[in-house]
Amino acid sequence: MSQVVIVTGAGRGLGRAIALRFGKDRARVVVNYARSAQGAEETAQEINSSGGQALAIKADVRNHEQVKAMVEETISKWGRIDVLVNNAGAAVGEGKDRTKTWLFYEIDEEDWDFVIDTNLKGSFNCMKAVAPHMMQQKEGHIINVSSGTGLRGRIGLTSYAASKSGIIGLTKGAARELGEHNIKVNAVCPGLIPQVSAMATGVANTEGYTREAVLHRTGDPEEFAEGVFNLSQMQNVSGQTFVFESRILH
Ligand code: NDP
Repeated sequence: MSQVVIVTGAGRGLGRAIALRFGKDRARVVVNYARSAQGAEETAQEINSSGGQALAIKADVRNHEQVKAMVEETISKWGRIDVLVNNAGAAVGEGKDRTKTWLFYEIDEEDWDFVIDTNLKGSFNCMKAVAPHMMQQKEGHIINVSSGTGLRGRIGLTSYAASKSGIIGLTKGAARELGEHNIKVNAVCPGLIPQVSAMATGVANTEGYTREAVLHRTGDPEEFAEGVFNLSQMQNVSGQTFVFESRILH
């Protein structure tokens, strides 16, 4: 049977590319979204018309009840969950101008909470909701999308860096707790992938990035999605953090 995959934030951006890649493998894909209903429906249609099966499900990853309902809907439709990709993310506070530099000692508590809740708590909520099903199946793979910024920090993105570093700790702890159930948990850190990304638009210093990257180029959504897909098929890899870029970060 084809794999059942949940990709959060799959109505646009990198999440969409990841969902389409699993669709190409004829997977059954939950295209999660919070605000991008139309994008999620289009992603689902594209998967359905290319041989996979897809279901667009609205759930704000910050909200445990909504996440739980999404997971229950997935189980009642397809009976299992093989892969969870925690891709949903936010760089700055809700509705805030991404082109501004948000120094950590100047941001509001609610902007801090928004970023941490979306990236870190959102990943926790989804992992907590799928874990009992994966334990019952005695297999599963969780892939958490962190960031190069989580490894090195960046001026104006300190809440984001903290959330993405937190995701790495969450990944390692959960990998230890879930290993005995044959559930793999890994983190991936993309570098700059500006093409389809709302969060990188207008803020990314593409020139500076390509100068520093040893391959002198930015990432590509399809290449990144291919990396996530390949990792999801690996059976003896867990608790690891993969840097998918060519800047040497540490
Ligand atoms: P975008 O800003 O383009 O997309 C963000 C996605 O997250 C959207 O699909 C959005 O869905 C979803 N999302 C945000 N909040 C929620 C929520 N509360 N519940 C559910 N979904 C939510 O970003 P990218 O596609 O560029 O980024 C995807 C991931 O990759 C993020 O985790 C990001 O941190 C990471 N990353 C990206 C890099 C890049 O250069 N592009 C570099 C390093 C890491 P909706 O519109 O439905 O709300």
